[in-house]
Amino acid sequence: MDPGYRSGGVALDALVRAVPGLRGLADLTGEQVAQVGSQDMNDALWLTLARQVNALLLADQADGVVITHGTDTAEETGFFLHLVVKSDRPVVLTGAMRPSTSLSADGPLNLFNAVAVAADPAARGRGAIVVLNDDLHSARDVTKSNTTDVQTFISPGPGLLGTASYGQIRFFRGPSHRHTTESEFSIDGLDRLPRVDILYAHAGMPHDLVQASVSLGARGIVMAGMGNGNVPTETAHALADAANRGVVVVRSTRVVSGDVGRNIEIDDDTLGLIASDQLNPQKSRVLLQLCLARGLEPGAIQHAFYQY
Ligand code: ASP
Repeated sequence: MDPGYRSGGVALDALVRAVPGLRGLADLTGEQVAQVGSQDMNDALWLTLARQVNALLLADQADGVVITHGTDTAEETGFFLHLVVKSDRPVVLTGAMRPSTSLSADGPLNLFNAVAVAADPAARGRGAIVVLNDDLHSARDVTKSNTTDVQTFISPGPGLLGTASYGQIRFFRGPSHRHTTESEFSIDGLDRLPRVDILYAHAGMPHDLVQASVSLGARGIVMAGMGNGNVPTETAHALADAANRGVVVVRSTRVVSGDVGRNIEIDDDTLGLIASDQLNPQKSRVLLQLCLARGLEPGAIQHAFYQY
């Protein structure tokens, strides 16, 4: 079999038609907000999508929303919605690891389970939920862990929110941090998000990448640091310089699980840096963009990383 495919190639109507019994779960209406591989998601599409979700839910036009989304960036889109949707109604993202043309395609059952979650009153108040391969993840916690396996999504640390079995939903817990109706972040009046770059740390990392980001207009930098958010010594100095010039620097980690704490091997207090706590680099970027858009100062931004 040829594993190649073009993502975002199947229109919404065709997806819905491919799932027997889907219309028995809920009254469904569909809107095509975009049709792209999720590697092409960007800040502008996030804003458009979030506006659409808020409009539907706040005008009482839907009890819940299901978003079909590529798996590459579902964790970022999901976290963005988790922070800026202003309703307690379910927002559910689902996707597929196998193309619809492949043997044992996983998309149809994922979509079935996602609609069952969105229709379940128990899903209310749990923020954005990512559903794949019978697992329910909080959008805050989920991350893609395998390039091809259908069991790709994991929630390191906090663990699963629940499970789905042919539309039977079980919740184990609620989200652990602030979200949706309890989030201070809003997209009202925003037509773009501030530029925040992610830099990846590695042995021998050239520290002038930091300066390049600053010169290109980044208002924030997230480090995908080593271990507990560590960076080479010269990079740490470059980050402190950037922070001195008003660029907000968050230290996250390239490691898949574990927290990044303040002042462990790097003196954040002296260098003026922020620790990401539990958020991975791509989620740290989302939160930092919203913090900067809201005009928060570094102290308040550190607080936000503990709260969200
Ligand atoms: N590159 C694809 C995407 O994220 C992978 C997938 O279809 O899940 O859109």
